[in-house]
Amino acid sequence: MRSFMDIDRSLKELVEYLESQGYIKTEKVKNAFLDVPRDIFIKDVFPGKAYMDTPLPIGNGQTISAPHMVAIMAEELRPCSGHRVLEIGGGSGYHAAIVGRMVGPEGHVISLERFEVLVKKARNALASIGIENVTMIHGDGSEGYPEHGPYDRIYYTCAAPYVPKEVFDQLKVGGILLSVEGEPYSTQRLIRYFKVGDSQIEKEMLTLCVFVPLIGKYGHRS
Ligand code: SAH
Repeated sequence: MRSFMDIDRSLKELVEYLESQGYIKTEKVKNAFLDVPRDIFIKDVFPGKAYMDTPLPIGNGQTISAPHMVAIMAEELRPCSGHRVLEIGGGSGYHAAIVGRMVGPEGHVISLERFEVLVKKARNALASIGIENVTMIHGDGSEGYPEHGPYDRIYYTCAAPYVPKEVFDQLKVGGILLSVEGEPYSTQRLIRYFKVGDSQIEKEMLTLCVFVPLIGKYGHRS
């Protein structure tokens, strides 16, 4: 039997796999996945491996997350049509594209990335598949991005030591924030916060994971 790690998979096969394993649970996430070709976001590096369920290097020592992690986060974040979303750690732009599809043309994803070269590549990839509601911004996302806030949803795709008050302040009451918390390159935790009141936050641990570190004012040193 062929293993899913050993072969190039088409997008449709990957989505079937993610559904069969319970990572994709809703039609909304499934449709977003079917609508965004992952190979476009890694075409300079490993286009042939785009439909394997694995993280891949995207340059500058960074990685595009494994599809199952993007699926888990898309399900748990619950982005809705018209939502304003902040992504901290834009990387290839792929994860932002999935969320961009989920929030629809009335919604908007603002994505912060600290490497300018990755921002440029991500912008080209997004433009080449006609995604217009994702804005990639070069800068330190560890402080969030109040200029475009407040946000209905905020999520990290890099591991932070903690979520600072500045970032919680940019989340609307009723909003959801997904963070990755832990030390660099060790096992980290995917955590979901619900902002139930102006200064009232509920916290829920979702799963273990490994992401590249958040580097910046409220991040790790390296
Ligand atoms: N969502 C991305 C995942 C990229 S990995 C994708 O779909 O490809 C996480 C990214 O976070 C890396 O590109 C890294 O450069 C970026 N990052 C780390 N610290 C950051 C910071 N303080 N501000 C913005 N981006 C940061």
